Amino acid sequence: MARSPDVVPAENYRRFEHKVTLALARKWRPKNFAELVGQEHVVRAISNALTQNRLHHAYLLTGTRGVGKTTLARIIAKALNCETGVTATPCGRCTACIEIDAGRFVDLIELDAASNTQVDNMRELLENALYAPTSGRFKVYIIDEVHMLSRSAFNAMLKTLEEPPAHVKFILATTDPQKIPVTVLSRCLQFNLKQIPLAQIRGQLESVLGKEGVTFEVPALNLLSRAAEGSMRDALSLLDQAIAHGAGKVQETSVREMLGAVDRGYLFSILNALVRGDGPALLSEADRMAARSLSFDTALQELATLLHRIALAQTVPDALADDEPERESLIALGRSFSAEDVQLLYQIAIHGRRDLGLAPDEFAGFSMTLMRMLAFLPLEPGGKAVPDRASGRPAEKPAATRAVEQPGVAEKLNQKVAETRPIEAELSDWRNLVGRIKVGGMARMLGDNCEFQALQGDNIELVVPEAHKHLVEKGYTDKLQAALGDYFGRKLRLRISTGGSGRTPAEIENQERQASLAKAIESIDSDPFVRELVENFDARIKDTSIKPIQ
Ligand SMILES: [Zn+2]
Repeated sequence: MARSPDVVPAENYRRFEHKVTLALARKWRPKNFAELVGQEHVVRAISNALTQNRLHHAYLLTGTRGVGKTTLARIIAKALNCETGVTATPCGRCTACIEIDAGRFVDLIELDAASNTQVDNMRELLENALYAPTSGRFKVYIIDEVHMLSRSAFNAMLKTLEEPPAHVKFILATTDPQKIPVTVLSRCLQFNLKQIPLAQIRGQLESVLGKEGVTFEVPALNLLSRAAEGSMRDALSLLDQAIAHGAGKVQETSVREMLGAVDRGYLFSILNALVRGDGPALLSEADRMAARSLSFDTALQELATLLHRIALAQTVPDALADDEPERESLIALGRSFSAEDVQLLYQIAIHGRRDLGLAPDEFAGFSMTLMRMLAFLPLEPGGKAVPDRASGRPAEKPAATRAVEQPGVAEKLNQKVAETRPIEAELSDWRNLVGRIKVGGMARMLGDNCEFQALQGDNIELVVPEAHKHLVEKGYTDKLQAALGDYFGRKLRLRISTGGSGRTPAEIENQERQASLAKAIESIDSDPFVRELVENFDARIKDTSIKPIQ
């Protein structure tokens, strides 16, 4: 599934520009039951009814927006009118099928109840229903957002529903079935369309991108699928936007930027500071957020979402997809907090958000919430996590008493702190360290292209420049992580984000090479013999031929 994100053949890019005219949601709209994603239960029931010729005169399709209600309605219209006969597999080639797809089939009447002008004509339209279809087998009325019909329009429809002419079929669609009169409901065969699961949306996006010849990064598709909230239509129009925004590629950073999803790294920093009981780090993170003018309301919301996912990771680890971009971090945090901690933090986040409007200002409200989290977590004063917590076991007693009851805890913690210091020092000299640890191949290349940021507990935070992001593959990261773990003799975790200041070992080496080359050129330039040659014989020094003496 891993694709190289950086290789976008130029010809693909150009080909895409020519195709951009038709929106993806329209272009890839399912044309038959088999193509309809995520509604297998409804499709099966309707297909069986069609195959066995058990036709009802009114269908009600319910479900949230963008799950495929009108798409399904049009496929049913084709199934009923296909020239091959009533079928679960309309041919897609006969006049009826083609005209329905093109939206110009005379016996398919589509109404949007949300628009009033059409509702005014309702009575007239229904009177028309009495006449036989012009070219099809059935006159099909698709009424979208049917709950928006006025009472009089419903009454007009009810009359037709009570004594439906044999050639009339109603397909009603609604997001809000509760607003439909029971008298109408009772005359319809009802199907509830589900929200489409994230994995199926992602699969569909992947398949569309494959057919469009657009390269993508899997985490970007995860972000898009999640943002679509169960709606395939939203997913495809987000994908449209993402392709435009990323100039023909679908990449994680650009999708994040587009979705306004702030890099959630800061949330992880907050939670890690809580794990360590590190108050100053917590507040400086809040400061940094203020400096970036992030919304504190959104931040608390996202924090609650993140805590929910951590609780999931603790309770049902399988609920997290394998390619979930934040999987490792979520599982790590799930181990650092007890289940009760997570519940507590979640409550505090939610209450903090509720009280944000009452706070003197948003920053005060937010930082107060963080301090409340810190104050209520069973941590030792001075900021080290109670060792038990690392096991993920729920804390049975308040930490303060536990620490007294367990001699040796303080020593262990001190020892841990003592161990940490040299590690941090060595990590700061990242270039040197990468040269010393036992790692080769792509994992070494990854190390050479990273900069050390911070050590937070067992997490080594590295940054990799955008241009080398493709090196951050699980296989390479795991190897580098293992090599560092072996070197320091303890379990360490790597967290690599993009960014950097141009001081990775590879960049430093390159700069040094450039510098020594410049020096070599300069020394040759200033060499008296060379100067004489240049001045008297109009010679030119070919810079590319100069190599510094190693
Ligand atoms: Zn057909």
